[in-house]
Amino acid sequence: MKHQLIKAEKLHAVEQMGAAISHEIRNPLTAAMGFVQLLQSGHHTRKQQNDYLSIIKEELKAAERVIQDYLTFAKPSLVSIEELNVKKELQHVINILHPIANQNSVEISTDFSVVGSIQGDRQKFRQAFINVLKNAVESMPNGGYLKVGTDFSQNHISIQVKDTGVGMTKEVLERLGEPYYSTKGSQGTGLGMMVVYSIVRAMNGTIKVQSEVGNGTTFQFSFPSFKAALKNESLKKVDSI
Ligand code: ADP
Ligand code: MG
Repeated sequence: MKHQLIKAEKLHAVEQMGAAISHEIRNPLTAAMGFVQLLQSGHHTRKQQNDYLSIIKEELKAAERVIQDYLTFAKPSLVSIEELNVKKELQHVINILHPIANQNSVEISTDFSVVGSIQGDRQKFRQAFINVLKNAVESMPNGGYLKVGTDFSQNHISIQVKDTGVGMTKEVLERLGEPYYSTKGSQGTGLGMMVVYSIVRAMNGTIKVQSEVGNGTTFQFSFPSFKAALKNESLKKVDSI
């Protein structure tokens, strides 16, 4: 009896995860399909064909990465640890989100005057900040401002993400990061912030959130700098000897 219940629960979790994955990979697949249809219609130069094919390849790769990110997410350990240039990675994420920001009339500004590098898994770092910035853009359906800034102090690199969106109530703030908690109905997966918290925790980072209904939200992330992380690791090694 108990065994069956656990099985049912597991099945339910798998079904929900499946729904989330299909939601997240729909965008790149739709884009890829669009270019396949374009290729099939009319005549294109060799150069155009090659361009379309590279876009299709990139979109399919993106879909594959999303699946990978959700599936490897079950394991708390990070896959490949490398030195990440914070400015470069954030700029990459912002470039990916430009089309959605434009659709929502959201103006993005950056202040990367103080930057550095941190330690982490590149894909996961990108996934975390795509989720955070996407939420920010989605909180401003009638336009607004999104500021992304970086700072450095006491061996830590901090990243600030500030939006002028709808803000969050106390309840939403408290439940932020809870799996499947979303205020967006069928438009939300409720997985985005859970993934963010998990990735940031695995990178020894912290998250602070300030939000006011009607005024917007500020996320403040802090990560050990690359040098500090290296030092810690060598300390740990000494410890274990
Ligand atoms: P989803 O975006 O699919 O709803 P998330 O886990 O990404 O799921 O976010 C959970 C909830 O947190 C959202 O539904 C929203 O209510 C709230 N939220 C997250 N970020 C913001 C933000 N920048 N502004 C307002 N609300 C936010
Ligand atoms: Mg989200």
